[in-house]
Amino acid sequence: MGAHATARDIRQQIVDGATSAEATCEAALAAIREGDATIGAFLHVDAAGALDAARAIDARSDKASLPLAGVPVAVKDNICTAGVRTTAGSRMLDTFVPPYDATVVTRLRAAGAVIVGKTNCDEFAMGSSTENSAYFPTKNPWDVTRTPGGSSGGSAAAVAAGFSPIALGSDTGGSVRQPAAFCGVVGLKPTYGRVSRYGLIAFGSSLDQVGTFGQTVHDAALLYDVIAGPDAFDSTASSHPVSPTVAQLDRPLGPVRLGVPRAMLAEGVEADVRAAFDAALEAWRSAGAELVDIDLPHAPHAIPVYYLVAPAEASSNLARYDGVRYGFRAAVGPRDSLEAMYERTRDAGFGAEVKRRILIGTYVLSAGYYDAFYLKAQQVRTLIRDDYTRAFEGVDAIVMPTTPSAAFRLGERVDHPLQMYLNDVFTVSANLAGVPAVSVPCGLTAERLPVGVQVVGPAFAEGRILQIAHALESRMPTMTR
Ligand code: GLN
Repeated sequence: MGAHATARDIRQQIVDGATSAEATCEAALAAIREGDATIGAFLHVDAAGALDAARAIDARSDKASLPLAGVPVAVKDNICTAGVRTTAGSRMLDTFVPPYDATVVTRLRAAGAVIVGKTNCDEFAMGSSTENSAYFPTKNPWDVTRTPGGSSGGSAAAVAAGFSPIALGSDTGGSVRQPAAFCGVVGLKPTYGRVSRYGLIAFGSSLDQVGTFGQTVHDAALLYDVIAGPDAFDSTASSHPVSPTVAQLDRPLGPVRLGVPRAMLAEGVEADVRAAFDAALEAWRSAGAELVDIDLPHAPHAIPVYYLVAPAEASSNLARYDGVRYGFRAAVGPRDSLEAMYERTRDAGFGAEVKRRILIGTYVLSAGYYDAFYLKAQQVRTLIRDDYTRAFEGVDAIVMPTTPSAAFRLGERVDHPLQMYLNDVFTVSANLAGVPAVSVPCGLTAERLPVGVQVVGPAFAEGRILQIAHALESRMPTMTR
């Protein structure tokens, strides 16, 4: 569907000897040098590290055994990379160089991938536009006056701009799927616990999952197959056996029932998004799918529940940034005057959105309000999860637009947090329920902005939802910028 070479093709050419990992890496670095001054997808580009890794792949005789041999990959900057600065988009971690790799990064390297750099994101992954990055906003490659979405906006933009064919992001309430939809690429959020969170800088620990981006469903699946599975370093990583998804994509779809939550679509969805979604439903019908109306009665509560639970967990996770271990110490010299200290630390702390979340989270967890807000939110979360369990008794997957609108303009919502939060109406419930979901492009608006449709499945049904997404993708016209 995309206009640039896919990870699958790049790997094949390297394995066949038609090109080298080094030449591929140099081409990716050149594309970044040429284009990223405009897009701002990367916070740091690790040219030397990437070229070293690429040459090491070229020197190997067992390339055919590497699922990502020589494939350039971009990694969201809230995922730890040994020896490479990792900021999570925050001044608080401006000077943080992790001494270890996240498990997903270890697995990327073992698969032969070449990490080209770390991508921009909303600070600590809190946001839907990448404008909460403490560094700079990323621009949408389809229209540079618009946001790429967030919080993994840098990763989505890197794939859409052709800087790297695949990328990792993290999804706490939609941060892989929403930017994928805005940038016209595929984004997968796996089942909670399917991918290790070891080395992912924590935001909402009961919601966070590392997810994958690709131009095609196949590429997103390929990357997922590399990172999924149990991990001794993360006790919440599931021991449920992993079945590779790539092999499933081209198998016949067989009988499939797709649930459409009609009530959720009744208001607030832009007309062009609605039209693209309806076209996707038609394409699935022509692929033999049966469409069934379903009800998710507690869906209207997903946004308030998410924006209580996520800040509560964030306030607890971010308590470690107390100025002792990270941030301030690095910013303050031993002989600084008080004024100098103030000057240098003023910009070294949290940005406005992170402070807002910590305040909300601390408030809802405080003794007088716990029962009224946090406990109540957790109870409604259970009802939301039960809605999904019940729905999956009758359907294989649930389909809905990924977002109510296409990419909005930079600056439009950054001072209106509630408007920003409402954009997550279709994505947060998959995190609250812990189930997997994939966003796949399904057309363009009249302004030529991409629209994404989301396929949500039962826990551990990644293979099936990717297959359903692939069936749609293969019936969609190619979208080019
Ligand atoms: N937009 C949501 C938020 O701001 C989701 C973020 C995410 O998934 N990391 O919390």
